[in-house]
Amino acid sequence: MEIKKAELVAVTADPKQYPPDELYEIAFAGRSNVGKSSLLNLLTNRKKLARVSQSPGKTRTINFYEINDSFRIVDLPGYGYAKVSKSVSESWGKMMERYFETRQGLLKVIQLVDIRHEPSKQDVQMYDYLKHYGLDGIVVATKADKISRNQYQKSEKVIRQTLGMKPEDKVIPISSLKKTGHEKLLEEIEKILID
Ligand code: GDP
Repeated sequence: MEIKKAELVAVTADPKQYPPDELYEIAFAGRSNVGKSSLLNLLTNRKKLARVSQSPGKTRTINFYEINDSFRIVDLPGYGYAKVSKSVSESWGKMMERYFETRQGLLKVIQLVDIRHEPSKQDVQMYDYLKHYGLDGIVVATKADKISRNQYQKSEKVIRQTLGMKPEDKVIPISSLKKTGHEKLLEEIEKILID
């Protein structure tokens, strides 16, 4: 699949302002600074579609991008930024819950984790949450250029074990910097949309 057109159609925390629930959606989740904006820019072939954050953790909205006039990519707010207050993290949780529970068109949430580190407690919580909603199964290991290729397998194993992934689930190493691995993800997205 090639993304030829990507258009930001809504930026909101308010379910009343979500775009109509009439297109399939694939969402992206991950802790702040994991490389989500960079990945979305790479996937959509745009330099500044999603803002690459200067101050991590600032974005507290759900951003909806309409892709090729046929489905949406949804950028969920990053989690795990140490400096946010309790009320901010609670409102984050409510925002996620409302989106996951009400969205009929939501097919999958792709979780991002840093390829270099064992997934954090919050990554595990997020993934458990996705399992609960049946939205789990694809994990992107970001910043793949930071390790050598022969370390991929070991990292994948740690990610799989820590998140408790099933054998058929996918871990896809991607470097937004080197522009590698994203075709594989686009293939997986295409499969999800066709199924
Ligand atoms: P977000 O907060 O998850 O949206 O993360 P960003 O896309 O803003 O990236 C956070 C930081 O990681 C930025 O300094 C990026 O330049 C850097 N980064 C993102 N992707 C990669 C990658 O594939 N390789 C490397 N080396 N750095 C990356």
